[in-house]
Amino acid sequence: MTESIKRVLLVEDDEDDYLLTSDYLQQVSNYQFEIQWTDSAVEALALLKQNKHDICLLDFQLGSLNGLNVLQQAINAGCTIPIIMLTGQTDSELDNNALDAGAVDYVIKSELNTTRFHRAIRYALSRKEVENERLERIKAETKNRSKDKFVAHLSHELRTPLTSILGYTELLLSHQENTHIQSELNTILNNGKHLLGLLNNVLDLSKIAADKLELNNANIALDNFITDLYALMSVTAEDKGISLNINTSTPLPLEINADPIRLRQVFINLIHNAIKFTDNGAVTIDIWLQTEANKNTLYFTITDTGIGIPQHLLKTIFKPFEQVEDIVSRNEAGAGLGLAICCELLKKMGGTIKVESEENVGSKFIISLNLGDLSNTRIEPFAFNPINAQAPEATLPQISGRILIVDDIKDIRNLIGFICRSFGLSVCYAVNGGQAVTKIIEAQVQGTPFDSILMDIHMPVLDGKRAIAKLRSMKITTPVIAVTAATMKGVDQELKLLGFNDVVAKPVDREVLYRALVNCLGININSSGIETQSTDNTSSPLVNTEDGNLIASQQTKDNVIAIQLDANKLNNTSATSSQSTAQNLEAVEVSKRFLIIEDDQDAAQITALLLNNLNVKTQIAHSAAEAIALLTSKDQPTKDDFYDRILLDINLPDANGLAFSKELRLLLPDSEITIISGNEISAKTLAEFAIDQALLKPINLAMLKDII
Ligand code: ADP
Repeated sequence: MTESIKRVLLVEDDEDDYLLTSDYLQQVSNYQFEIQWTDSAVEALALLKQNKHDICLLDFQLGSLNGLNVLQQAINAGCTIPIIMLTGQTDSELDNNALDAGAVDYVIKSELNTTRFHRAIRYALSRKEVENERLERIKAETKNRSKDKFVAHLSHELRTPLTSILGYTELLLSHQENTHIQSELNTILNNGKHLLGLLNNVLDLSKIAADKLELNNANIALDNFITDLYALMSVTAEDKGISLNINTSTPLPLEINADPIRLRQVFINLIHNAIKFTDNGAVTIDIWLQTEANKNTLYFTITDTGIGIPQHLLKTIFKPFEQVEDIVSRNEAGAGLGLAICCELLKKMGGTIKVESEENVGSKFIISLNLGDLSNTRIEPFAFNPINAQAPEATLPQISGRILIVDDIKDIRNLIGFICRSFGLSVCYAVNGGQAVTKIIEAQVQGTPFDSILMDIHMPVLDGKRAIAKLRSMKITTPVIAVTAATMKGVDQELKLLGFNDVVAKPVDREVLYRALVNCLGININSSGIETQSTDNTSSPLVNTEDGNLIASQQTKDNVIAIQLDANKLNNTSATSSQSTAQNLEAVEVSKRFLIIEDDQDAAQITALLLNNLNVKTQIAHSAAEAIALLTSKDQPTKDDFYDRILLDINLPDANGLAFSKELRLLLPDSEITIISGNEISAKTLAEFAIDQALLKPINLAMLKDII
């Protein structure tokens, strides 16, 4: 064993004892000692306070001063050196006093040449080593905490102005009088979004570098996952005139265990790149399962027919900032972070990524994921049913009704919402079964029940199956259509037995969805396309209220008239761009009131403007104190003092948003609270503070539409 030099403070007023102790100390194996001797209690105290020795041997008898006093005073002054008390004779009371005062041990001078002394020294030194390690760890943790705090702060600081840039641009784009500067506004919007993407990537990389990126694994329904991905990316491919294909060559597990958000991020990045760098042809995703010696590996390849990557650059492509330089031949720029993040994420997931590419022929990215044990999931042929993107859209007669769309994936919600609005329907959204049940009950209580509900099956919090069971157990008979990617045999029957009225497969076929809705809404389309509602329909027609809001009237069996939305009226209440007419339909719900608590004037103002544009009334408070003053100013609050939702910034000048939410909850027990921050907030924290939802800055129109 290597010898390590330890610094000893020997406090002894008898020189002979000092020499003797020094001799015995040198016999302790594995250590070398550098001994500093003092016979003065005062000097000993001064040296002990400096905390620079590894160990101290302190004689109990120090002339007039007793060693116990020195020990007590040293420890009170913050001395952390392990102190062994040396005593003249066995005296259990004295020994106990020494230990009580903070000595690590005591040794009788006659024991100095025994193993008992060696053991005491070794024990005291190892205690010191452990203590040193602990202090080092605390120091490192404090340093990391300040770094994390800085990154969190920076992220918040960057997202706040981005809220204004993106928000105002979206607002300007939605006004018809700005058509002449639409392309300039789009440039600002696209660059703002690019900046936001970059910020997210840099934050991801910094988390990876600090080993702070944690995966939240869950069981992912593979068919759902792929279908949703397809639904999202096929729109981008379609825009470029490229086909997006998905092929499976083996049966696949119904469920895999991985982090759904991070896995989705990897695929979106790779498919997005494939589409970005391909001008003609196709992007093809092949999926297969390989089982070898009990090891299950899922392979995905993303192959494009694009510009390809030069051979000499393939080696560095997964390193950060290694964007292929020859921008002249490339129309697309980027920071070159996406692939590095994909590579790191896959590594963390126990997967791999490889690339093969040939210039002007195309690229192929090969991903493997180690799936571990698959004995708990079925392995079945995967029936993927892509939308035929080129199919001409049939003109379907307009129908009316108020629909709730329930899906945890925002892009899917928006996609289905867009299709429904194109049928003439008014749509509301819920992000999971739990929120859907609440909204459905609220609508019933207010006498404005939904006419039909489109419900995803795999969702967090409360999935579709449990949500339908809850609704039916409460005797809510509103027709509910399951929208599911599960296409296996028997699923339809199972879902209908649970209480769903119909089942529509993902990706959603426009006509299939239309037919299901027409059936559920009890609408008859006659040959001339004019609709009448059948008398056994229990849903409600929609009417415009005086102030232009759309509500559903209570319906009787004999009084069933569906009223088409008046587009002109709707346009008066919100943005007038013809292109945004369909989008604005969803804004015309019963008017809501939001309280915005945000100290940044610009961010508060743009959030209020965007909300007003969506027909939501707003009130702004710039601090916690201002919010409290506002909420407690009236003895007898009226309904105008109620807020449906509070948008609460996490960093207020006079309060922490999370802690402040508890006070708000007491003042407004029925309002929903949405926390707004520059950093992701964990589900655990949200649950701990009973916050309904978190939004990541910058806030944009789509996010606000979503929460309304
Ligand atoms: P960026 O955000 O710049 O796109 P990535 O890390 O995703 O960063 O990609 C790094 C670079 O690799 C890209 O800028 C591009 O030059 C090249 N690249 C990535 N995927 C492809 C592809 N499918 N075809 C051609 N080039 C690609």
